[in-house]
Amino acid sequence: MNEVTPRSQGSSTRLDSYVDRYAARTQGMTASEIRALFAVASRPEVVSLAGGMPNISGLPLDVVGRAIGDLIAEQGPTAMQYGSGQGVPELREQICEVMKLEGISAHADDVTVTVGSQQAVDLVTRIFCDPGDVVICEAPSYVGALGVFKAYQAEVVHAEMDKDGLVPDALRQAIAATRAAGKRIKFLYTIPNFHNPAGVTLSAARRPEILEICREADILVLEDNPYGLLGFDQEPIPALRASEAEGVIYLGSFSKTFAPGFRVGWALAPHAVREKLVLAQESATLCPPQFSQMAISAYLTNHDWLGQIKHFREMYRERRDAMVDALEAYLPKSCQWNVPEGGFYVWLTLPPGIDAKAMLPRAVTARVAYVPGTAFFADGFGSGSIRLSYCYPTPERIREGVRRLAGVLEQEMELRATFGATTPPSLAARSGYDAPSTDIN
Ligand code: PMP
Repeated sequence: MNEVTPRSQGSSTRLDSYVDRYAARTQGMTASEIRALFAVASRPEVVSLAGGMPNISGLPLDVVGRAIGDLIAEQGPTAMQYGSGQGVPELREQICEVMKLEGISAHADDVTVTVGSQQAVDLVTRIFCDPGDVVICEAPSYVGALGVFKAYQAEVVHAEMDKDGLVPDALRQAIAATRAAGKRIKFLYTIPNFHNPAGVTLSAARRPEILEICREADILVLEDNPYGLLGFDQEPIPALRASEAEGVIYLGSFSKTFAPGFRVGWALAPHAVREKLVLAQESATLCPPQFSQMAISAYLTNHDWLGQIKHFREMYRERRDAMVDALEAYLPKSCQWNVPEGGFYVWLTLPPGIDAKAMLPRAVTARVAYVPGTAFFADGFGSGSIRLSYCYPTPERIREGVRRLAGVLEQEMELRATFGATTPPSLAARSGYDAPSTDIN
């Protein structure tokens, strides 16, 4: 009989011995405490209002399939080869056409294609941030960007938002307080349109003011705009980059207007920065995926992509309406939420004293999931809020999910009234595997 090697035992001892060898920057790379819970939340009986997955069921798969078949037949050897570190030139030209919709006039030379806009956030942080440098972010902010800033050991300072987006005075105060503490600010990271997770949009009146504050303080603006073309009832809003070319790095993505699986996004940077960005891209990936870029380029050339975006907007508007109607119908009056004019998310403020993270295991037991607000703050705030996404479930499932959530909230409020603060049962600890990262981004 073969001798049984205690493989798991051996490997876990080896794993322990790696702990001391990791680079200091990995200390910021920690799994979210709610991640395990989402393994449970992704079961079909649970209505997940947590994930930010684009609803690609609206895509014409036959058209995409034919375009990819043609690409292989006609340009296979090029499509499957390494390409330029900056990205396919024809696609970069097309990206400039896409950005024109938001008033941006740009040259394809200043566009760097990235592996989703997520990689653009990573590359920009990589070239600007040393450990201890400060990035100013809205409060709350996109969890995936916070993860990048943490991984580069940058410090996040939050600035308040209200229904009109980032509050100019809050930005001024954040800058002044950070500088008074002797810290170096590298950039403002902002999501001006249909914010993830807050759902709000920076008002037209505030846009020049935010730019002026950053110009005066000599702070770069990192404008992250994956949802800009997904407004429900309006023309695309002019980007910050449309009125300020030198002080803004603009990030775009095909993930929400086409499909995230291609992993194609881009950064439009001032010419001087573009150089470093391409070098960083080359060291990270050699080149962004040639095949994906050419597939997207063919799709943009041969398909009515604007018609497709219109279809997505209608689909998401129907879901937004379903969620807002259900919130009105089911939720206690002491809850507050915004009505997003585009994008995927509603930010819900719970009745005073309810802890969103503590309530989550009970919500999952009641077969509804959301993301607690704390995930979107670098400093532990946000426990009284939750992010609800309406992008993925059907309108019926959204209504049912909100109805279940309302039931959990009512119980939670009764529990609080009877016993004071409640302690969460440790549901997360019981599930043994990781959820896909899409559930929490
Ligand atoms: N920025 C924001 C604000 C997002 O919501 C997301 C995806 N959830 C990204 C960037 C990353 O998107 P991708 O890498 O797919 O372009």
